[in-house]
Parts: sequence; structure tokens; C-alpha cells
Amino acid sequence: MLTPAYAAFKVNEPLKPHNITRRETGPNDVKIDIHFCGVCHSDLHQVRDEWGGSTFPMVPGHEIVGVVSEVGKGVKNFKVGDKVGVGCLVNSCQHCRSCDEGLEQYCSNGFVGTYNGIDKDGTPTYGGYSTMVVVDENFVLKIPANLPLDAAAPLLCAGITTYSPLRHWKAGKNTKVAVMGLGGLGHMAVKLANAMGSHVTILSSSEKKRADGERLGAHDFLVLKTEEDFAKHANRFDLIINTVSAPLDMNSHVSLLNRDGTMVLLGAPPKPHELPAMSLIFGRRTVAGSLIGGIKETQEMLDFCGEHNIVSDIETIPMNQINEAYERMLKGDVKYRFVIDLGSLKK
Ligand code: NAP
Ligand code: ZN
Repeated sequence: MLTPAYAAFKVNEPLKPHNITRRETGPNDVKIDIHFCGVCHSDLHQVRDEWGGSTFPMVPGHEIVGVVSEVGKGVKNFKVGDKVGVGCLVNSCQHCRSCDEGLEQYCSNGFVGTYNGIDKDGTPTYGGYSTMVVVDENFVLKIPANLPLDAAAPLLCAGITTYSPLRHWKAGKNTKVAVMGLGGLGHMAVKLANAMGSHVTILSSSEKKRADGERLGAHDFLVLKTEEDFAKHANRFDLIINTVSAPLDMNSHVSLLNRDGTMVLLGAPPKPHELPAMSLIFGRRTVAGSLIGGIKETQEMLDFCGEHNIVSDIETIPMNQINEAYERMLKGDVKYRFVIDLGSLKK
């Protein structure tokens, strides 16, 4: 089915209107009328081919929310009119160890990404910068009734990507959590860690967001620049959630970890980090990584957000402002997630 979308046709070229073909609704498929789609920094990395392997034309967008408009005959869990979401995954092998454990993002046979991926039928996948999508029901999430659709969209990536490591590394009442980078992921990490009862500190690159940090629920806000700054806060945190999209001084930041503390890398800079062994050896510290979250945990996160009334702080834009939004995201000028109103593409 021909579907209006916005696509990047080449590396570093502005996105333009495009029509894509979506498959007909199969027996296990849910057809979704897309209302909103969040804009993730990963969209920008991939449009610019900063991770390598990007394919064009590319229709980005993996923070999709909308309303079910059709279901296949075999669909059990969804009906027309349901408020639903789709995140970064639209399929996986569904039989490896990770898939069996509900960790489809670590599928040994490779999950199918919502965009810039190859679907099981061999066709390219196209994301949420479009008006409609057809997805296997196993990869569709339910949006809690009390959450507004627009501000819930970023939960599908920024929300789950921060929720999953907070749960895995057991953030709770006695945990001192630091969040590096107050952007889309960072501001969700602050809200979620706060709701889990942790003591939350923001590590930001400037003073500009201090007032926002406090409003979002952080207990402390630090801008660390000099050796003395870092020394003052050494051995302080149990868990550092690093959402920064550029490489930075790992040695100094790791020194902020307590003994046995962990820094989880969520930000995926195009260039490698430099990490001296000594900064881990002294203090038995760990640097780890974490990729989005599985379907079961994504639903758990959405339900948690429903219970705690947590959504993203958003700036809504029409589809034709996406290129300006990318430029602003590069400058850190977004509070705290752009969300595209796909109604603007339906007119
Ligand atoms: P974002 O909204 O652009 O936020 C990134 C934040 O990092 C900025 O707001 C800024 O915060 C800080 N920052 C950026 N450049 C910096 C620099 N050169 N030096 C110091 N601080 C800098 O991006 P996002 O959407 O949250 O995504 C963040 C990263 O996570 C991206 O690399 C993205 O690809 C990745 N990601 C990973 C996963 C995963 O599964 N692991 C999932 C989604 C996204 P301050 O202004 O506070 O300094
Ligand atoms: Zn994302």
C-alpha cells in the first residue's frame, strides 16, 4: 500500500517527501495509523551513516505511536481503535536463547530494525516518519490509557533504553545514579531513576539546563571540567548512565564511580572511547553497554510510566521541519525530544 513518508536519499542530504510501499495486513499483523513519532539521535547517526552500513532511501523513526486501523485474522491481543506503539524492533528469530528470554534486542540471528533493516521477506524496513505501518503483533506495545500519545512516543526508545539498564543494575532507594548528558535519553533516565527512588545527579556539559534538571527530578546537577572538579566527586556513584553521543574523557568520568560501580554506555559515538585499564582496576569498576530493551520489558516500562504518570518533555513539529530539528539536536537545542505530528503529512 502506497504510504506518504519522509526519506533521506543520500548521506548528509536533507530529508524529502517520498512514497513508500507497506505490505498488506497479514494474518498476524497490526496496521497502525501513525499519529506521532519521536526523533532520536540514532536517526541522525544513521541518516549521516555515522555507524556505517546505512541504506537509502531511509525513512527513520522508531518512537512510533498511533491507533490500530486493521488487524489480521490471527491477531489475539489488539483490536481496531487501540492506542499502540512500536519501538526499535519489528521482528527477530523468536527461537534463540535471547528471544526465548524476551531479550529480542540481543537476538543471535539479528533482530529486524524498524528502519534501516531488512524484513523477513527481504524488503527494506521503513520507520515512523510516515503515516502508516504494518507490524507483527508480537512487536506491538499497548500505550496506557492515561498517557497522551504525543508525549508517550519517546518512551518507545528513550524510555526503554534508560529503563532497561536502571532495572538490570538494580537502581533503587539506596542507589546513587548519575546521568551523563541531559538530552532525549538523559531526561527520561532522570525521571525514571527518580521514580525508582534513586538519588539522581545530572552530569551536564554546561549550566544551561540546571533549572530544568531540578524540575525533572534530579537531586544534584554538576558541570565538571577540571581535574579538581572530578577529584571532588571521586568514588561517588553506584551507577552512571552515559547518554552522551560524542566521545569524552572516560578516565575522569569513570573515577566518579564508587568501588564496584558501573558505567553503562548508551550513547553510541561514531569514534571509540579511550579507556585506561587502571581506571577500572582501582575500584573494581565496570564499563558496560546496553541496547534498548525487549518487548516484554518495553511493555513493563510503559505500564510503569502509566502508573507513575511519566512521559517525555516534548516539542511537537510538523513533518516538514525535520531538517531544522536535526540541526537543533546537533546543538543540544531541544527540550527534550522532538516529536513529529504525522497529521501534518496526511493533509
Ligand atoms: P540527544 O537528545 O542529542 O542528547 C545527547 C546529550 O548528550 C546532549 O543533550 C548533551 O547533553 C550531551 N552531549 C552531546 N554532545 C556532547 C559533547 N560533545 N560533549 C558533552 N556532552 C554532549 O541524544 P539522544 O537521543 O538522547 O541519544 C543519545 C545517544 O544515545 C546517541 O548516541 C544515540 O544514538 C544513543 N542511543 C542508544 C541507544 C541504545 O540502545 N544504547 C538507544 C537510543 C539512542 P548536555 O547538554 O546535558 O551536556
Ligand atoms: Zn532511538
